[in-house]
Amino acid sequence: MEISRETKRLISQYHIFPSDKLGQNFLIGASALQFIVDAINPQKDKSYIEVGAGFLFITKMVASNGKRVFAIEKDKRFGTFYDEFKESSDEVANKIEIIQGDALKIDFSLLDADEIFGNIPYYISSELLVKIANTANIKRGIILFQKEFADRILSYPKESEYGAITVLIDFYFDKKFLKTFPPSFFFPRPSVSSAFVELKRHAAPGIDSENFFKLVRSAFGMRRKKLVNNLKADFSLDRLLTSLDKLSIRRDVRAEELSVSDFVKLFNELSGEL
Ligand code: SAH
Repeated sequence: MEISRETKRLISQYHIFPSDKLGQNFLIGASALQFIVDAINPQKDKSYIEVGAGFLFITKMVASNGKRVFAIEKDKRFGTFYDEFKESSDEVANKIEIIQGDALKIDFSLLDADEIFGNIPYYISSELLVKIANTANIKRGIILFQKEFADRILSYPKESEYGAITVLIDFYFDKKFLKTFPPSFFFPRPSVSSAFVELKRHAAPGIDSENFFKLVRSAFGMRRKKLVNNLKADFSLDRLLTSLDKLSIRRDVRAEELSVSDFVKLFNELSGEL
């Protein structure tokens, strides 16, 4: 049965009326589903974490070629559907471990997985990304974001969407835009498009990341202000100007003009001895 009709049938059979609050926009395009699975390119020796498993369409396709999928789903209404699936004779069922809970509260480092994927709800995007970034065993993420959010992480210095979250992404990952998914690929139709993005972990600079991101967040504090003005509560003006001069960065620079490597240099300069 085509996915769209099957999804609507499951919604009515299990009384899972799509919740806006939980970001429930189920993927219904067969070609979109295939595109996602091809991009993930599941390997039989690799395990995966999925955020927001829903009716398990993506899950099953990844599990059938991969080793194992830890499928996280917050909405308890899927309980009966999952119980029946686990009892079914579906041979991929034993490669899927369903975890009913909030992905933001689960410690990913306890799951033996290398990669993470998902058609995720918009409201968890930033927090989830920070969590993935901080979980070193996850080497790759293949994630569908709301377009506007994807534009922020995919942007480059001097672009209007460039911000602290972009610097976080660039610190930990190589990023790649894969495809735009229009609202018609989902049921119910969201009001905006989605973008499918791949993140691959690279070696992060060996610095105190917690304090580094504090600096980055302060630097972007008031967007229209100059970097120096955003940071003057944390450092003396003299220290700031000396550091910028030393790095040959203009004294009137704004945070959005600096790349992650500029920020790393600035951080090292500001946290070093005078
Ligand atoms: N993967 C399915 C469902 C995507 S919709 C598909 O593509 O069709 C997003 C899913 O994320 C919903 O099932 C929703 O209930 C779930 N979800 C929402 N918040 C979550 C959270 N904090 N943790 C885990 N799952 C969550």
